[in-house]
Amino acid sequence: MSIRKILIANRGEIAVRVIRACRELEIGTVAIYSDDDVNALHVRLADEAYHIGPSPPRESYLNIERIVETAKRAGVDAIHPGYGFLSENANFVDACEKAGITFIGPRSSTMRFSGDKMAIKQLAKKLGIPVVPASDGILEDADKAAEFAREFGYPVLLKSAFGGGGRGIRLVNNEEQLRQEFELSTMEAKAAYGRAAMFVEKYFPRIRHIEYQLLRDTHGNGVYLFERECSIQRRYQKLVELAPSPVIDEETRHRIGSMVVKLADALNYVNAGTVEFIRDENTGNLYLIEINSRLQVEHPVTEMITGKDLVKLQIHVASGRELPFKQQDLRINGSAIECRINAEDPLNEFAPSYGKVGSVSIPYGPGIRVDTYLYPGCNVSGYYDSLVAKVIAWGSTFDEARRRMRNALDEFHIEGINTTIPLHRFIMDEEAFSRGEISTDYLDRFNILERVQERARAVMQSRADAIAAATLVFTHMSRYLSGDGKGINTGKGGSGDGQSARARGKESAWKRAGLLMLRGSMYEV
Ligand code: ADP
Repeated sequence: MSIRKILIANRGEIAVRVIRACRELEIGTVAIYSDDDVNALHVRLADEAYHIGPSPPRESYLNIERIVETAKRAGVDAIHPGYGFLSENANFVDACEKAGITFIGPRSSTMRFSGDKMAIKQLAKKLGIPVVPASDGILEDADKAAEFAREFGYPVLLKSAFGGGGRGIRLVNNEEQLRQEFELSTMEAKAAYGRAAMFVEKYFPRIRHIEYQLLRDTHGNGVYLFERECSIQRRYQKLVELAPSPVIDEETRHRIGSMVVKLADALNYVNAGTVEFIRDENTGNLYLIEINSRLQVEHPVTEMITGKDLVKLQIHVASGRELPFKQQDLRINGSAIECRINAEDPLNEFAPSYGKVGSVSIPYGPGIRVDTYLYPGCNVSGYYDSLVAKVIAWGSTFDEARRRMRNALDEFHIEGINTTIPLHRFIMDEEAFSRGEISTDYLDRFNILERVQERARAVMQSRADAIAAATLVFTHMSRYLSGDGKGINTGKGGSGDGQSARARGKESAWKRAGLLMLRGSMYEV
């Protein structure tokens, strides 16, 4: 079937990204928006836009009924869910189907199955794919959890089978803590996902996060578009992503990639997805942790190294067509890095920052891509995810990509909100990162946050010193040149009423120099 009009059930940079892909394909676009997003970029770019409710997500971007009703009213053929919000909600997929609208993503049955981390791990195990050692099945109570924890040895991770985005993961160091956390996590998971299916997993102290991009059509053709490494994280959430991973060799890349396609075949998976692994840094072994049945935030790094547009391919697959290439046609070209720019202050415990944005200057240049919803005067709402932009740098080597990213971050200015740009800028020059020596504890292991703060303090101090010095010079020179007698005695006589044109010229040149110094010290240090 051909898709002629798509509703984008999302907001922010991903809604903009999907709209751009649709426009390229000459597909009509329908945006939805909440109160806070009246003037959002996705609303401005779409062919049509519909208000769907107040700003809290539950009343707008998570309102299945309202969204499907809007889609019917707008006469769309398909819905793209983006990531987050309803993108992994099987009930939403069912509702679309019932309304005769194509959902651009996996079937609801696949989504239900892959949303259950335990079920996926059991299937993977059967297929011979290594999975993280974990308790079998759902734990009924804290006693059962303690039994497994003793078997794996502390510390262990307590996880919710339906968790996501790092929420619902607890690191526990002893039995007492395990019992406390079991109760707390159960309550938290029930509130967040409506059910609490807890399990215990062996904890690996030093790991890398490696994930595979998967794409499979309705005709049974599946491919993997290689791996991404997302080891730089904060509280189990990704900050910087790379493709390819500096530690995955060709043999491992293809061996694990083939397993990923095998898993997708077993699930009869359709559309884009990601299979996530952790890599134990002691042994180099990879273990599957979960499947995400949607497009990932970090999909651009895969696009940069493969030259494939994943959003266009998602639409292609959803329209029932066969994938336009085979595994053997895919190659890795160069290296890509993505920095997630969040509206948070890295110098102040990542305190959220939102409100009206002033001027914005977006970087560009060879190998640079910026996915964002920012424009001068736009609103960053406190109701939604803090991601305001993604800077993606491509280079023929990792080092070229890193240098390009560094330059791009230097050129990225956003007035009015605090962002994570200073943190990323620091990381791009950091030695261990430059060597590709990263792991999920990277920030702690290399004291990154303290070092970023230290640098910020040093910059502030030298700025204050420079301003003080420039002010002193300026005042001194002004006094001297205006002849109040307290200036520096050069032996050539002061200025006075009988000042020559040459002397006046000299005076204004000095004043200009003083002012320039003052101005320079405010902006340049
Ligand atoms: P979520 O679905 O909430 O994102 P995941 O299971 O995907 O949770 O794990 C998120 C992150 O937590 C991983 O990227 C990794 O940093 C860490 N993690 C997960 N499992 C383990 C483990 N067994 N040992 C150590 N770290 C882990």
